[in-house]
Amino acid sequence: MLAMVLHRIGEALRAEERPVPVPGAGQVLLRVAACGVCRTDLHLVDGDLTNAELPVVPGHEIIGQVVALGDGVSGISPGQRIGVPWLGHTCGQCSYCLSGQENLCPKARFTGCQIDGGFAEYTVADARYCLPIPDGFDDVAAAPLMCAGLIGYRTLRLAGEGRRLGLYGFGAAAHIAVQVARWQGREVYAFTRPGDTAAQEFARDLGAVWAGSSEQAPPVALDAALIFAPVGALVPAALKAVAPGGVVVCGGIHMSPIPSFPYADLWMERQIRSVANLTRRDGDEFLAVAGRIPVRTVTRPFPLAEANAALASLRAGKLTGAAVLVPEGTSAA
Ligand SMILES: [Zn+2]
Ligand SMILES: [Zn+2]
Repeated sequence: MLAMVLHRIGEALRAEERPVPVPGAGQVLLRVAACGVCRTDLHLVDGDLTNAELPVVPGHEIIGQVVALGDGVSGISPGQRIGVPWLGHTCGQCSYCLSGQENLCPKARFTGCQIDGGFAEYTVADARYCLPIPDGFDDVAAAPLMCAGLIGYRTLRLAGEGRRLGLYGFGAAAHIAVQVARWQGREVYAFTRPGDTAAQEFARDLGAVWAGSSEQAPPVALDAALIFAPVGALVPAALKAVAPGGVVVCGGIHMSPIPSFPYADLWMERQIRSVANLTRRDGDEFLAVAGRIPVRTVTRPFPLAEANAALASLRAGKLTGAAVLVPEGTSAA
């Protein structure tokens, strides 16, 4: 099979022929139908993640068809379509795992980071961490749900119940989060890079009541701000935009340093917090909601062999919506 492999930080992924993996106990073998490209994949290539184990096949937004089961797998059948997200393993025994916070497990292992992921024609995954994919999404459309959608959903949840939300960085995650927020009856204010009128228009098309530059102040004070761009300077900017009691939630796994700011900007019980990873419960909840809304994803398919071009497009900010890799011979449906 073809696999796109990261061998060294800072290098392009290498196209390699590998044997199709054999599912071990508790694992499923999937034929990959589509795998989304996430900003975390760029952070992986750039060496911003301290816990990666190289060489690794990146990709943690996997949609695939089960073709074989390892010993002891129950509840999944060959032929079924399932998704594989970022969270690939937890210890099941620590205080976090036992209190509904498996996303914080110190022994957690992550797909496409320590476990080979979906930038390949086949992959194996621990069946307990796979998620069923709702009907109504084709494979390519479903791929961005697996991380952009899921992390966006968790970010939205941690933002609380406030009605006026700011979304900073209008890419793959925000374009899904805006749809969920609107469905929940909230108002969305979208902030993009200065001058990115295409992204601002995209945000308004998806239901944002206002879209502008991240250097602008919103027309109203926000109840919460969700930051999806990896830009630390957005944190003090967003803090200024939220009302007393408001929260700034950082949705990404890595961010440039956050500049200092006056305490007065945090005063009045404003909060700053991060979102780390996901739980399986987030996955089940979000996918049910995504099917019910139904969420519409905007995607740009790339052949699997062009993974490096997909990463370059994401890095250049040239994508509207989400890049998705499709192995050759797979119908992009
Ligand atoms: Zn644990
Ligand atoms: Zn991701």
